[in-house]
Amino acid sequence: MDIPTVEKMVYAPLLEQDSILLAVSEGCSYGKCAFCDFANDKYTVFPLEWVKANAKYLAAESGEKSSLFLLGQNSLSLPTAHILKVLEFIQEFFPKVDKVSMYARAEDINSKSEHEMLLLRDFGLRALHIGLESGCDEVLALMNKGTTTSEFLEACRKLDKLALSCHLTTIGGLGGKKHSATHIEKTAEILNLINPASIWQLKLLIWPNTPLAEMREKGEFIELSPLEVLKEERELLARLELKNCFFMDTTVLNKYTLMGLLPEAKSSIIAAMDHLITEDSP
Ligand code: SF4
Repeated sequence: MDIPTVEKMVYAPLLEQDSILLAVSEGCSYGKCAFCDFANDKYTVFPLEWVKANAKYLAAESGEKSSLFLLGQNSLSLPTAHILKVLEFIQEFFPKVDKVSMYARAEDINSKSEHEMLLLRDFGLRALHIGLESGCDEVLALMNKGTTTSEFLEACRKLDKLALSCHLTTIGGLGGKKHSATHIEKTAEILNLINPASIWQLKLLIWPNTPLAEMREKGEFIELSPLEVLKEERELLARLELKNCFFMDTTVLNKYTLMGLLPEAKSSIIAAMDHLITEDSP
């Protein structure tokens, strides 16, 4: 069997950079977010026999690694029986792995019963990475995210109840100039309600050939400058009241990385942001 290498499909969260990466699907079953360049990729579910062969191939190089990430933009959308099979392969080929994680959309979590989620947990699933992007429903609707904040809350509460870790991404500048203030206010509000295990803050990139690029072209979306995005993020961080949450941003002013455990590192990250804002201000 031809074993594709993972290099062409490595879209894993920052926290999973040291995990074994096993591809189960490619692209996104939803594929309609206005800002997303993955939306142009064809959604493909890899056959189970291919995943098993790839797992066997990767096992020889996995060494002492104890965590594994299932590649695919929303692998939790696969039928539970399919994911359970993959988790069985992991148990067979990676006996040292005690933490499996994957990307999910809130609707993937909400559409599975607690019983299904518990089964997945029993077979090794420990964490889900979800693109929250914004806590503002207007921004989510503008970006055609297909999920409301109440659906995000429902999904994250389910994970909390089932002792599954919840890792969120948020996108700086996603509201553009028009929604900047509410994007920050509402995103801070929902993050404080969820208290995720981590937040990976990304800066908005407007990819060519996306609906968002078209909106910008027509003047319907006014992009923030990198400095304005940093000021947004500083405001967001100042509003967060979180416990034991790892905050990361590798896109600060397109060249810096700031990260640390909240709440302990909050004041030092804000001080670093203030320093960068002062340095970069005209
Ligand atoms: S759900 Fe995620 S991967 Fe899918 S289109 Fe939206 S942003 Fe892209």
